[in-house]
Amino acid sequence: VEQKKIDVAILGAGTAGLAARRGVLRAKRSVLLIDPGPLGTTCARVGCMPSKLLIAAADAASLAREAGVFGVRCERVRVDGPAVLERVRRERDRFVGSVLVGTSEAARRGELLQGRGRLIGPHTLQVDDHTVVEAGTVIVATGSSPWVPPPYRSLGDLLLGSAGVFELDDLPESVLVVGTGIIGLELGQALHRLGVRTTIVGIGGFVGPLLDPRMKAEALAIFGRELDIHPDMHFESVERVEGGARLRYTTEAGEARDQVFARVLVAAGRKPNLDGLGLDRAGIVFPAGKVPAFDPATMQVGDSHIFLAGDVDDDRPLLHEAADEGAIAGQNAATWPDVMRHPRRTPLGIVFCDPQIAVVGAPWSAMACDRNRVGEADYADQGRARVMNQNRGRVRIYGEAGTGLLHGAEMLGPRVEHTAHLLAWAIQQRLTVSQALAMPFYHPVFEEGIRTALRDLEEHLRIGHAHGDPCEEFGPGA
Ligand SMILES: Cc1cc2nc3c(=O)[nH]c(=O)nc-3n(C[C@H](O)[C@H](O)[C@H](O)COP(=O)(O)OP(=O)(O)OC[C@H]3O[C@@H](n4cnc5c(N)ncnc54)[C@H](O)[C@@H]3O)c2cc1C
Repeated sequence: VEQKKIDVAILGAGTAGLAARRGVLRAKRSVLLIDPGPLGTTCARVGCMPSKLLIAAADAASLAREAGVFGVRCERVRVDGPAVLERVRRERDRFVGSVLVGTSEAARRGELLQGRGRLIGPHTLQVDDHTVVEAGTVIVATGSSPWVPPPYRSLGDLLLGSAGVFELDDLPESVLVVGTGIIGLELGQALHRLGVRTTIVGIGGFVGPLLDPRMKAEALAIFGRELDIHPDMHFESVERVEGGARLRYTTEAGEARDQVFARVLVAAGRKPNLDGLGLDRAGIVFPAGKVPAFDPATMQVGDSHIFLAGDVDDDRPLLHEAADEGAIAGQNAATWPDVMRHPRRTPLGIVFCDPQIAVVGAPWSAMACDRNRVGEADYADQGRARVMNQNRGRVRIYGEAGTGLLHGAEMLGPRVEHTAHLLAWAIQQRLTVSQALAMPFYHPVFEEGIRTALRDLEEHLRIGHAHGDPCEEFGPGA
């Protein structure tokens, strides 16, 4: 068994782990990345990038089908499944290739060890059965794995994880998508638009990340017109039958359904990869199924020499947050026991369904404050949206009476991936509604939609007496 001694050991060479390595190197400490592979990160291999590639194909099919509105005739749209999937993989492989440049550089410098790591003592890691590593500090950046609800586990090879979709040779005839969260909504709508008979079911009434009841209702109405989607079905049974998986359930409207699908795509949430890491050997105790308590400003677990980063901490499971957390953990693990607090960015989440969904700033659940006011705009008559035949959706922006500060927004509409950034930047800069409205708005653009909502919010901020305690702090660092 080989022995190694290192300042910082990082479990996981994903986005968070790679960012952590750069953080350690900037602080001029020695570092070792440990990962069993496959390398290339979840984002590039099976996450953000291939899902957006599949959605791009679906959007192309949808645009072609709807072109008749403009007087452009291409009704006989044919989707070539193998060609769609072939492009997804080809482009995906390019993205993975550029990530692998980073990991190969680490390997050349002797900073990458292939294998699964686990703690066998407070500062000692066992990597497979070939190496023992002594490390001053340890960063756990092991990511997360799809969670399959128990009744579906017996379906065996009929099950597709989100990763499995991108490996198919051809599109299946039909798919049951389990989960109406971000991944279920994105992939479910994409498969539907690519001609796959698709039903999307969930329990609990989730529609992506939306929490504002008004927004959820609007989203459900819009998606319900296009998709067979049931976010709060009553599950009865699922079983393997001739030809696929048979699901029996009752819809929210009370309709009993009995359907057979060729494949089942499970997108019912992800679970942090914490099992078998031996964190108890470092004195970290936490309830089963939970994540050890850590400080998101330092990424340190308690006052220990263990740091978390990325999806494994189950806090903000997004690419840019994984990279930030890796950088914070890397720097602090390198200088431990001195650790610095780092302000976090204004929360921003985007779903690439159509119309797109975005959530910005403080969550709706934090809007209980009695000073909170809402401004909203409907895209039905928005100029640019009508021009583009994309006039569906709504935006609701939240602000605080008294201070006039912007706190957050939930958005459903055309290209909100862009307008959500404007709002997130405005919130992080602590702009008031009036300051945001003083910024230039061109005409005719989608951004005018958020101007309408901001004007509405400004009106509402004037109504009623601003009383009570100031709302919680939502700015950067919150
Ligand atoms: C379908 C899908 C679509 C997504 N779309 C988006 C999007 O559009 N935008 C966005 O911001 N985010 C998106 N995400 C989320 C994003 O991909 C993740 O937030 C991000 O990849 C997390 O990075 P990470 O470093 O925490 O984990 P990973 O990249 O998964 O890295 C974890 C690494 O740890 C390794 N590992 C596991 N166990 C051990 C062990 N015991 N020892 C050593 N190594 C170990 C694994 O092999 C892996 O390489 C999407 C995710 C999915 C699944």
